[in-house]
Amino acid sequence: MTIGILKEPLFESRVSLLAPEVAALAKSGILVWVESGAGLRAFCTDKEYTDNGAVIKSRTELIDGADILLSIHYNEISLSIKNKAFIGVYAPLYNPVQVENWIEQGHSVFSLDMLPRTTRAQSMDVLSSQANIAGYKAAVLAASLYPHYLPMMMTAAGSCAPAKILVLGAGVAGLQAVATSRRLGGVVEVFDTRAAAKEEVLSLGAKFVEVEGIADASKAGGYAVDQSEEFKERQKLKIAESIKKADIVITTAQIFGKKAPVLVTTDMIATMRAGSVIIDLAASTGGNTEVTKDNETIICNNVSIIGAGNLAASVPSDASKLYGKNVLNFLKLLVNKEGVMDLNFADDIISSTCITNGGKVISHIITKNQNHGNIPELHSEQH
Ligand code: NAD
Repeated sequence: MTIGILKEPLFESRVSLLAPEVAALAKSGILVWVESGAGLRAFCTDKEYTDNGAVIKSRTELIDGADILLSIHYNEISLSIKNKAFIGVYAPLYNPVQVENWIEQGHSVFSLDMLPRTTRAQSMDVLSSQANIAGYKAAVLAASLYPHYLPMMMTAAGSCAPAKILVLGAGVAGLQAVATSRRLGGVVEVFDTRAAAKEEVLSLGAKFVEVEGIADASKAGGYAVDQSEEFKERQKLKIAESIKKADIVITTAQIFGKKAPVLVTTDMIATMRAGSVIIDLAASTGGNTEVTKDNETIICNNVSIIGAGNLAASVPSDASKLYGKNVLNFLKLLVNKEGVMDLNFADDIISSTCITNGGKVISHIITKNQNHGNIPELHSEQH
């Protein structure tokens, strides 16, 4: 069995596996090939890879010869390449055309954003490991852009009030943004549509703003569900009240497989103080504000709105380390002791993440969405 680590596109600084994770694979008898320069932006050199048992190859050699290709993004793979296995984060629900191509090409494609949110899948959950980093970095980035202190400061020269931080969405990223903002001394208020989030928010010393009439999300596997129009109206009024007082807003609200809900309107932004900062972590699925553009900063009424859909990539070493550990754990399910890919489709982790195999769609999440005509209109850039 040969596993190949591909170099990511220019906008991405992470890599699928760093040298220590390569060493773990090499120890178990798996051959690891690395595309030359693949780890450089995550500060891992070709020499570190070879010192840990890998062989450096050109991209063509690697794509032709490796059995399983690891690449966070599916990028620049020629349509003439057939019958390969890929593991990455390919957002298949947003890329139906790509799924059609994989069927045509006979690829076995595993997309880790489709993992079930179960205890058994936790060690492979790249969405969580990366969202945790993004939430941390969102708070740090906001603090560095905000033209005031975050903590309360009482000095001989005068006092400064603590910053008021509003976090929309208390999933993995949101909760880490709350925890980091609190550590930096901010006063934090939080909205979420899952009632279960309240307790976690309170335990971090933040205020949870309740909105009446939340739809039951208890059967959505940990994910949020769409809310009624009445709820959305009520929530909008409450967010408008909170945002007026907020200096920093960190938005993380997403609904699995759909466009992110727009929670912050231009009118709301107009009520914020000049110099305030909005970090939108939902930017890659459309954004939580009316003006967000992924990977761009928009200035609106002297408020900066940062479209930060891939913030984990700004912490490339730890993000790659944790991503790599997730991938190693996933590979244990895919490759048997003899070093052969052995797919057990009765396993819910395989049946969720395996997008295509043998020229057909496997993931029940995709087939369910297709049957309901539910593939979102939003087509993100090719991942
Ligand atoms: P996510 O990235 O899908 O969404 C972020 C947050 O936004 C969620 O908390 C969601 O409820 C919230 N949201 C959606 N629409 C909203 C709206 N209109 N207004 C306000 N908030 C809104 O979330 P996530 O980080 O993937 O986590 C979702 C849940 O899954 C959490 O409870 C998390 O602990 C759980 N989880 C479980 C596992 C596991 O067991 N393996 C792994 C990861 C996450």
